[in-house]
Amino acid sequence: MKLDVNTVIDWMKRTNEKMQENKSYLTTLDQPIGDGDHGINMARGFQEVENKISQGTYETPADVLKDVAMTLMSKVGGASGPLFGSAFLKLSTAVKGTDTVDGELFAKALDQAAAGVKQRGKADIGEKTMIDVWVPVAEALKEEPNFSAELLEDTAKQAMENTKEMLATKGRAAYFKERSQGHIDPGSASSFYLFEALSDVIKE
Ligand code: ADP
Ligand code: MG
Ligand code: MG
Repeated sequence: MKLDVNTVIDWMKRTNEKMQENKSYLTTLDQPIGDGDHGINMARGFQEVENKISQGTYETPADVLKDVAMTLMSKVGGASGPLFGSAFLKLSTAVKGTDTVDGELFAKALDQAAAGVKQRGKADIGEKTMIDVWVPVAEALKEEPNFSAELLEDTAKQAMENTKEMLATKGRAAYFKERSQGHIDPGSASSFYLFEALSDVIKE
């Protein structure tokens, strides 16, 4: 896998498509264990990302990722904006100065991103949040730096599905206590779409 500036731009555009396509599904997931706005938040955020990056000229992957982070932080209300924003900011910092990001560096960057989300959200794995997708994906890619698009997608999908039985202890879903069980975490689903979009782009 190699990510250059154009691959990262394509990744963000593909992510935006997926967030628009799955906007109502993501909102449906946020209804029983949240406030029913996750699809709206993600669709708005990634539309703003697409608008922003289509106006800019970028030299490196880090430049794009930084604008993605800033846009999500400033345009998304709700917990997910700063959390996804922190993830992208860490990705940007981790790949700074590199024109072409290989699998090994990307795995390290994801590791940093997952750590950034943990820090920002004061949460850890097993609390039924987006962390439960970011951490397993980072771990899988660290173990296999020559990872395939399929490994990326399958790992993210399985991780998202694993959140269904978890009990939420952070974020709005935590208010639902035991009733949070039996529902996929919305932020894990949007994180899955993000990684599915990357998988699509690296397959091309
Ligand atoms: P809000 O809950 O403010 O309405 P969203 O609905 O957009 O924001 O996003 C909710 C998602 O954010 C959750 O499904 C979860 O994945 C993630 N999340 C919420 N709180 C935290 C936290 N403290 N740490 C990590 N992720 C969190
Ligand atoms: Mg919500
Ligand atoms: Mg909200």
